[in-house]
Amino acid sequence: MQYFENYIDGKTSATEDYLDVYEPATGRVYGQVANSTASDLEQAISAAKAAFPTWSGMDSDRRSRILLRLSELIEENLDRLAEMESRDTGKPLSHARSIDIPRAAANFRFFASAIVSWQSESNTTENALNYTRRVPIGVVGCISPWNLPLYLFTWKLAPALAVGNCVIGKPSELTPATATLLGELASAAGLPPGVLNILHGKGAHVGQALVSHEGVPAISFTGGTDTGRTIGRLAAGRFKKVSLELGGKNPVIVFEDCNLTEAVETSIRSAFANQGEICLCGSRILVEDSIYDRFKSMFIKGVNELRVGDPKEKVDMGALISAGHLEKVDRYVQEAKKEGAELLTGGHRLNRDGYFYAPTALEGMDNSCRIVQEEVFGPVVTLQPFKSAEEAIRLANSTPYGLAASIWTSNVNRAHQVAHQVKAGVIWINCWMLRDLRTPFGGMKASGVGREGGEEALRFFTETQNVCVALVK
Ligand code: NAD
Repeated sequence: MQYFENYIDGKTSATEDYLDVYEPATGRVYGQVANSTASDLEQAISAAKAAFPTWSGMDSDRRSRILLRLSELIEENLDRLAEMESRDTGKPLSHARSIDIPRAAANFRFFASAIVSWQSESNTTENALNYTRRVPIGVVGCISPWNLPLYLFTWKLAPALAVGNCVIGKPSELTPATATLLGELASAAGLPPGVLNILHGKGAHVGQALVSHEGVPAISFTGGTDTGRTIGRLAAGRFKKVSLELGGKNPVIVFEDCNLTEAVETSIRSAFANQGEICLCGSRILVEDSIYDRFKSMFIKGVNELRVGDPKEKVDMGALISAGHLEKVDRYVQEAKKEGAELLTGGHRLNRDGYFYAPTALEGMDNSCRIVQEEVFGPVVTLQPFKSAEEAIRLANSTPYGLAASIWTSNVNRAHQVAHQVKAGVIWINCWMLRDLRTPFGGMKASGVGREGGEEALRFFTETQNVCVALVK
């Protein structure tokens, strides 16, 4: 049995209560994670407050070197971290090794480098000089989900720490393993005690207590839209800065003039990568009716070739995160069938231990069906035909979400025109998941508030102060 403890004031810290941690690929409990109490939170906040003057006052070059060292340590521990991530989430080991862990290292490398070249603004007129300072906020809270555990946790920690804040990080209670090792690596990299504190436990308890705490003036959250709504409400009443990265129901719009082979291959990847458990997954595929049947048969053939199974083996998909999530995914599919959807492939769990679900595609449902409107966050995709660009845009914009969209066409004008009318924060043209860490990342509508990435993150994690000096003639 493995224990995943809190990391407070640079040390491992035991607590009173623990939760079971399941291995999704077997369905068995393999560990216990701290279920933090109010007293753990108070300790972490005191440690962070005490560390803040030194860390925020440190030359940014020194802070940068420590974070670069942490990035190197993540790379040096790539195999160990990838194995932990795969075991904790059920995702293929190959995915954790090639995407999750390298990206966690890249997050620290990127923001450690960004901070040393970040410039402040100044403006002069004939009679005044204005300069704008961006100062660290203090103790900030970073709350992340289970689908890309270390990748998303570090996507918040790296900018928050780089600008000089101290952090209380709250990873998902379902996937505590790599965050626990991150604490050890942070100490080894030379991060002073108290600068980073990692508290495990239930969202509704320690997570909500963190959001409500008067000593934490900013919260960066990634997770579900309903949780985001609760957090937004709690934070607003306390005038906190808040960034909310929430769910998605992302359209993939495929026009007749696209490169069909690439569009099909990438749509399969975008629907089923990480078992469909990525907020950016393309879960609604809209296809121009003249190529609908061709697209469908190529797509289904490709989906049927996907290998699903033991995450340690050479597979394309592993297990879903939990028994509860597996049931939720299956419920959506069974309901959709009752509502008139036709199953093209999949639609059932695999007959083995663990939380495995077959990659699933449906067609023929009404656009108002729950399977089209709500985030399933699993290996389930719907196919819908459209007749014109106007209809594609209307369908694309017809859900409450607005996180990402992909557009497939060889007509450059149309690509831009459609992109400008789709209400989503992230648009990919003839690609998916091509990420440049400098670009703004985040959603419109129920997909969130605020943007992460590059300078947007540095700005979020700082307070802005303008100083105006009179220029005497
Ligand atoms: P979740 O909202 O259940 O939990 C996310 C985190 O919030 C966890 O650490 C959880 O413990 C914590 N939490 C839960 N209730 C809380 C509360 N009341 N107060 C404070 N913290 C609380 O989400 P999840 O199931 O872990 O993740 C899946 C969701 O995350 C999906 O909807 C997915 O689209 C979304 N997501 C969004 C992005 C993005 O960048 N937009 C990225 C990944 C995942």
